[in-house]
Amino acid sequence: MNQPRFSRRPDIGAGIRVSFEFFPPKTDEMEARLWETVKRLEPLDPHFVSVTYGAGGSTRERTARTIKRILTGSTLTPAAHLTCVDATSGEIDTVIAEFAGMGVTRFVALRGDPGAGVGARYHPHEGGYANAAELVGALRAQGDFDISVSAYPEKHPESPDFATDIEMLKRKVDNGATRAMTQFFFDNDLYESYVERVRRAGIFIPIVPGILPVHNFTQVANFSTRCGAHVPPWLAERFDGLQADPQTHALVAAAVAAEQVMDLVERGVADFHFYTMNRADLVFAICHMIGIRAPHADGASAAA
Ligand code: FAD
Repeated sequence: MNQPRFSRRPDIGAGIRVSFEFFPPKTDEMEARLWETVKRLEPLDPHFVSVTYGAGGSTRERTARTIKRILTGSTLTPAAHLTCVDATSGEIDTVIAEFAGMGVTRFVALRGDPGAGVGARYHPHEGGYANAAELVGALRAQGDFDISVSAYPEKHPESPDFATDIEMLKRKVDNGATRAMTQFFFDNDLYESYVERVRRAGIFIPIVPGILPVHNFTQVANFSTRCGAHVPPWLAERFDGLQADPQTHALVAAAVAAEQVMDLVERGVADFHFYTMNRADLVFAICHMIGIRAPHADGASAAA
């Protein structure tokens, strides 16, 4: 039998770094599930874990509570997402100071989506930060934080063209962003050509691919349409007929995501950001395949 295509790299796992994104839970039951996920992923020693911020600051308290629990109940380093939506700059500065007071040193700075939902027209809050670039500047003025921002391999749906889109990324970098994490995508060629465009524009921060394991294809397909991520026909074909068969769906999802990540590793990518959807299994399996593993009980790394 031929060797599997991706087993050729003897050093797989070496130098690869991952981060995990969670959303703040709404109920006690969801919180218990998130905490199980955190504890399962913790031994993988991610670079950091980030916690999202709901539209209009709607999850402000829950985001803070989740971050606090990560700080006090785990060895993980949290990054707090922040958006500009429906808040004055003073209110946002207060939130930044509160997070900093808790010991948060990493932020993910975003403009956010309009309160009316993705696709509605965005109006900056009067007296607020107009966009993510201004928010990055505010963070930079308040402390020596690690600041991540978003990037869009297929351009943001509101951007008229790539040049405008990348110009916004440049403004965020000029104001102090140190890393960009991408919207999820399924076609690695799109990511690669986007990174080339970004480099040609003189932007040299890491553009970390955002990987979304497909827990539910129908939901992902609907969401993709709204956020401008393209679902290739081959992906739809892979999940065709599996809506009522969760076990096979999960196996296919693991295979699809592992294939995507390992192809990116082959292309030289070493940093990955996983949209966990607060679930550990698919992400854990994919990390295992790229050599990110928990240490054995005797202290030796399984990847060594
Ligand atoms: P920006 O970087 O400010 O802009 C993105 C692009 O949109 C720009 O390139 C620009 O060309 C274009 N654009 C922006 N404003 C305008 C305008 N007024 N007119 C024309 N074009 C414009 N959302 C949340 O609510 N909470 C989160 O925690 C969260 N986390 C995220 C994490 C990641 C890694 C990513 C990729 C997205 C996340 N989002 C989150 C979604 C994000 O808020 C939306 O995509 C939002 O629409 C844009 O925010 P941004 O910071 O990317 O915007």
